Amino acid sequence: MEAPASSSVLRLYNTLTKREEEFVSIERGLVKMYTCGPTVYGRPHIGNFSSFLMADLLRRWLEVKGYDVRQVKNITDVGHLVADADQGEDKIQKQAEREHIDPLDVARKYTEEYLVDEARLGIDEPFARPRATETIKEMIAIIQTLLERGHAYETEDGIYFDVHTFPSYGKLSGNTLENLASGSRISIDEKKRHPADFALWKKCVGPNLHHLLRWSFPSGERVSSTGEDAAVGFPGWHIECSAMSRKFLGEHIDIHTGGEDNIFPHHECEIAQSECSCDDVNDRSPFARFWIHRRFIDMGDVKMSKSLGNVLTVPDIVAKGFSPLDLRYYFLSVHYRTNLKFTEKGLEDAKKARRKILEWMGEVDGQIKEEKEDNGDKDDFEFSREFDAAMDSDLNTSAALAVVFAAMNASRSTPNTAHRAYREFIDRVRRTFGCFEPEEEILPPEVNALLIEREAARGEKDFSASDSLRIEIEKHGFTVLDTPNGQKIRRI
Ligand SMILES: [Zn+2]
Repeated sequence: MEAPASSSVLRLYNTLTKREEEFVSIERGLVKMYTCGPTVYGRPHIGNFSSFLMADLLRRWLEVKGYDVRQVKNITDVGHLVADADQGEDKIQKQAEREHIDPLDVARKYTEEYLVDEARLGIDEPFARPRATETIKEMIAIIQTLLERGHAYETEDGIYFDVHTFPSYGKLSGNTLENLASGSRISIDEKKRHPADFALWKKCVGPNLHHLLRWSFPSGERVSSTGEDAAVGFPGWHIECSAMSRKFLGEHIDIHTGGEDNIFPHHECEIAQSECSCDDVNDRSPFARFWIHRRFIDMGDVKMSKSLGNVLTVPDIVAKGFSPLDLRYYFLSVHYRTNLKFTEKGLEDAKKARRKILEWMGEVDGQIKEEKEDNGDKDDFEFSREFDAAMDSDLNTSAALAVVFAAMNASRSTPNTAHRAYREFIDRVRRTFGCFEPEEEILPPEVNALLIEREAARGEKDFSASDSLRIEIEKHGFTVLDTPNGQKIRRI
């Protein structure tokens, strides 16, 4: 239960205890971290990505501090019902009906788009990226344990968790069973014992009679039948994360992340399921020790939401002439527990600030190539110490970036000192923030594909195709120059 010896102490705000706490991992040097991933029924908007960016920053900072981080980030491709509730349509099924395609094709299409956007935002690949539809048997195993132990019960339309059997229900969100009972109602087909009881499994009956993705219970075999069948069904959204987390990280994890909208019901329900189905019934250690949540991003003064129609996607940001990494900088420059009000002016300022830092980093890169002599004391460099202290203070990124600007000014005013120390400092900042890498190293795959296509068009002297491909590339935020050595690309 200790952090690597060389590092200073990281403090994080824990939603579970509602205070800042010193972070210590369960196993020395290893961090088990679960990040609630996207529900792939449409292109995620930048508000969704803000929570994934926060998780990526935390993971990177833990790695910079010397931890081995095992991050699992799921893809929800079934079971997430409209309004995060137990009633209503499955979001993916609804989209499939709208597009007249199979639900799995909906999931495939939006997963691909999501992964492209994620790569362009510089988000690192997780240790595992499980899909809910591939983890059904593990979910059923947990549901059966909960049934055997009396934490769950069956009704005509599904299997529900009985919140009365878990006295700690509400410990994350601060809800009580009393206020939950007065704030909601039980729909006629559910026959729940308490309004806060939540679905672990929904049967293909009633409103879910036409649900296409279905498995038999308890075998977990995929079934291709259609129509009403109480012997088949699909999982509830919450059980998915409990099962995927346990499959790859075991019963107890160090950190669980998400957006603040996940706190209730999603994460509250995950805690109940996971803690009531542990191998050792007497094990009182929590499912996750730290719960870290990103505050919402608003659109100016209005909430950013798909239903209000005021969301932006990563391609929208690029079409406005920004790099996805400008957005990354913008979101990370403000503390993750601050409710950021997105404005285009704010993004413009972020772009300029990032350019300034990139230019300075380029200058230092150039200087170090000429300078061989080590004239800096890298072990005790004040800017590195201040940067670490800011990041260790609940990921205080705005303070950390202020240190970067201070280092920039200091290095320019005394250009011939401590190159190595600055170099190491810059490496640390690059690794932590993920938006200061030299640009050519981070060409998005789809831009690469367009470049290859354009090269072929030019080879065949098809200049109209080559021109329209140039326009296409510009839409992604890059400009192409034709040189005697072939195409050269740079960010607009
Ligand atoms: Zn989740």
